[in-house]
Amino acid sequence: MSTKCIPELFGKLVFNDTIMKARLPHTTYKALRKTIEDGKPLDISIADPVANAMKDWAVENGCTHFTHWFQPMTGITAEKHDSFISPEANGKVVMEFSGKELVRGEPDASSFPSGGLRATFEARGYTAWDPTSCAFIKGNTLCIPTIFCSYTGEALDKKTPLLRSTEALNKQAMRILKLFGNEDVTSTKTTVGPEQEYFLVDRDMYNQREDMVLTGRTLFGAMPPRGQEMEDHYFGAIKPRVADFMNDLNEELWKLGILAKTEHNEVAPSQHEMAPIFTDTNTATDHNQLTMEIMKKVAEKHNLYCLLHEKPFDGVNGSGKHNNWSMSTNTGVNLLEPGDSPMENAQFLLFLAAVIKAVDEYQDLLRISVATPGNDHRLGANEAPPAVVSMFLGDELTEILESIESGKPYNPKNKESMEVGVTVLPHFPKDSTDRNRTSPFAFTGNKFEFRMLGSSLSVSGPNVVLNTAVAEELEEFADVLEKASDFKKSLHKLIKTVIKEHKRIIFNGDGYNDAWLEEAKKRGLLNLPTTMDALPYFVADKNIKLFTKHKVLTETEIHSRYEILVENYSKTLNIEALTMMDMTSKQILPAVSAYADSISLSAMHKKAVNSALKCTMESSLLEKLSDLTDKTYEELSALGNAVEKASSKKTNKATSDAYCKEVLPAMTSLRESVDKLETLTSKKYWPFPTYSDLLFYPD
Ligand code: ADP
Ligand code: MG
Repeated sequence: MSTKCIPELFGKLVFNDTIMKARLPHTTYKALRKTIEDGKPLDISIADPVANAMKDWAVENGCTHFTHWFQPMTGITAEKHDSFISPEANGKVVMEFSGKELVRGEPDASSFPSGGLRATFEARGYTAWDPTSCAFIKGNTLCIPTIFCSYTGEALDKKTPLLRSTEALNKQAMRILKLFGNEDVTSTKTTVGPEQEYFLVDRDMYNQREDMVLTGRTLFGAMPPRGQEMEDHYFGAIKPRVADFMNDLNEELWKLGILAKTEHNEVAPSQHEMAPIFTDTNTATDHNQLTMEIMKKVAEKHNLYCLLHEKPFDGVNGSGKHNNWSMSTNTGVNLLEPGDSPMENAQFLLFLAAVIKAVDEYQDLLRISVATPGNDHRLGANEAPPAVVSMFLGDELTEILESIESGKPYNPKNKESMEVGVTVLPHFPKDSTDRNRTSPFAFTGNKFEFRMLGSSLSVSGPNVVLNTAVAEELEEFADVLEKASDFKKSLHKLIKTVIKEHKRIIFNGDGYNDAWLEEAKKRGLLNLPTTMDALPYFVADKNIKLFTKHKVLTETEIHSRYEILVENYSKTLNIEALTMMDMTSKQILPAVSAYADSISLSAMHKKAVNSALKCTMESSLLEKLSDLTDKTYEELSALGNAVEKASSKKTNKATSDAYCKEVLPAMTSLRESVDKLETLTSKKYWPFPTYSDLLFYPD
């Protein structure tokens, strides 16, 4: 690809604004823009001309099929392809696509997770066009981003609540902006830039490991002599094979209008990162889902496998996803950027206060929004932020907040105290707000970076929580300020109160330190180390109230999501436990036995030649192997018993709790013994590629 072509290539497979403008009748185009920009309900009469233009464009670009592209609760995307063909009386076909087909689809909902919604409601579901995210082409198929709901209107997907939460936040943010006199602003949106980490491994080696194929991670594997201790991989030179992969990946992403920007090696060997330029949250979410899918596809072309699991290898860092989040107006103002005048600063401080209060009051929901069995291996493992949610603001901003709270000067030299709406904020250098890498939720100059997400997670959930929680706080603020007789005074008081009541969530120190966990406990912050510790908070009254009040999730939708998450926990661990048992009994124990056989044979042969030989190595090794295989065998059956016991519990919750408390420790014990066996067994006999093979694969 020549670099000259990139602007031409970019967005080539997207039915974007330029194409719409060129191909749609002017009135249709204008009506569609109204829906996209101002969230006006879709004028149904425009569906036919839009569908027709989309079809013509898609067919010219080689498409034969279309699909509604949606995001069920599995966390990945779903599609059901239909061709454009329509029979004619003369036995021929024409290519057709109607407005009706564009606007609504009816996939069978019964095979997607519904968390009990199916029992209560009809199995049938429908998809509905989301015109705020552009249609695009994948292979020979025109993909139309859609929401996915049950016939009774319950959301069965990850897009619907995201759109609802954006709307809820917009409504409250607009009230606040009015109070500050922003007459020109007609709407706000949130923006997201998700940094995506991943591992690449050789595909042939990947295929030889049942654990990777079935569970996406290694369930066994002794640490190789070399891990990440040399700290030479981060930002290191990129291997040619990986560089080729990255070039191809960029090209594919650019064609889809995805703003792939930064790429580099990460901390662990074979670990890498891709960061796009941020965009509106709905598009960013769709794009991140597509990015993950395309990473896997492109890797295949290079005989690599792309691992998106949060913790594919023990002993080296896992992969995360950083959700960079901010709010901006349709006039292009970033609401989390400190301004130049006292009033702009006051507005910034109010939005900041809303985020501080939201993160403190909804710590539990933020933790839940990133809770998966895979991510449990990362959070708090000294490589990712701890399972305790806290916020980093940097020293300057923290000092300013302290000054507002105490009324004491923030700058002792000029004795100036910080009065909201009157004092100009000093300029804080961006650098100083950007260097704490251990904080789960960090202010980085003009946005927040939520760093607890696991690499495979859809960014939808965390953004739904963030948007809704901040909407709640802004609503509370607007209720007070709209009634205030002295706006500046009330504003100052409000911000001061928020700081006083919620400063416990602010922590600028080292989050990887055990002392912080002690301190967090003293502050009354929640520490929810596992998914099963976190999930029950989802259905707490205050959280149900939050989501229902802002019309983001109904009570039924919350309960169904809770059920899906609980069930997903035991399902994931069940597959992992069964895979471990399968590998142990069918591959590992037979391999070690064969190796032990070969050693005893060798000792016997030696003795036959010279009966005086001691054969110390053989006999000592045999003893170790025999003891360890016996131990492994016992642990194998203990794991089997734990699985059986957990599976026989009466409720999903009890089953998942048992998987967490009993099956997981049994898996850990089995792994320890097997990993010891691996270090004792000849490489020739070990039945699958080791960590050295996987992490340091050749170019
Ligand atoms: P790093 O975190 O590696 O230091 P940057 O701070 O430059 O890198 O940006 C990280 C990500 O944050 C990028 O995806 C970038 O597009 C995104 N980002 C920057 N500004 C915003 C914003 N206002 N809203 C959302 N994301 C943003
Ligand atoms: Mg970052």
